[in-house]
Amino acid sequence: MEFRKTAIFGSAALAAMAAISLPLSSTLAETAEAEESAFRQAVKFGFSGQEIQGGVMLGDAPAGTQSLSFDGQPVPIDEDGKFIIAFNRDAGQSAQMVATLENGQTVKKFFNIAPRKWKIEHVNVARRSGGPSAAFMARRKPELAQINAARQVRSDSKGWRQTFVWPVKGRISGMFGSQRIYKGEPGSYHSGVDIAGGTGTYFVAPADGVVTLAAKKPFSLEGNLLMIDHGMGLNSAFLHASQILVKEGQEVKRGEPIGRIGATGRATGPHLHWSMKWNNARIDPILLTGPMN
Ligand SMILES: [Zn+2]
Repeated sequence: MEFRKTAIFGSAALAAMAAISLPLSSTLAETAEAEESAFRQAVKFGFSGQEIQGGVMLGDAPAGTQSLSFDGQPVPIDEDGKFIIAFNRDAGQSAQMVATLENGQTVKKFFNIAPRKWKIEHVNVARRSGGPSAAFMARRKPELAQINAARQVRSDSKGWRQTFVWPVKGRISGMFGSQRIYKGEPGSYHSGVDIAGGTGTYFVAPADGVVTLAAKKPFSLEGNLLMIDHGMGLNSAFLHASQILVKEGQEVKRGEPIGRIGATGRATGPHLHWSMKWNNARIDPILLTGPMN
């Protein structure tokens, strides 16, 4: 994965600590020493990526780090210390990571998550009232169960470590995070990026992964839905396909054709909707690929 910004945590705090020189009692001095030592070790944590809503960060933990948690949830660490975290579209201003180091010491890192300016469209019509029909819910329930089951799959794919590529190039017809407000009432935001393309156009895996869902018949909203796990809680979903070229359980390589664009499910025209999640966080695929060129 390629990121645009690198942040090393603890460095600003260290500089601030170095600038302060006060006479300290032995207890205070010991505490300060311990904190400084903790920070020194913490400095060995590297981060690349963007501290923004919908953003992803790739991290590097010092050798021997025992455990990591991010906002209370455990974060697995790969053999070489690499790990991944991400910020939900609606993430608040701050998040906290706690690491237990080799010597048992715990260190904390605070993230300042920059808010995004989402594309918001105010429309002067009321949001459809009445809710979904019983017939729709009867059809929808098993579909949601399949989607949730696919998201629970944790493959040992290393795709999460790669630089992601665009599954297909074309006009971006819908941005991640955009939202309509119906007479003051917000609708749900757009969960992925839409890429317009002719029906039958091939799209490829943006990174290595394992197929966790390959719809056998079109889902009511998603149409022919394909889901891929990239490892470490990171996954992709591809919606509205006219054809799926891979099977559940199959390993796919970055750049390998996995399906063809269509307009199945709820779609106004042929396009590929690509959405990504890290655990429960909805993230912006563009922050993994960079702009299309
Ligand atoms: Zn879409």
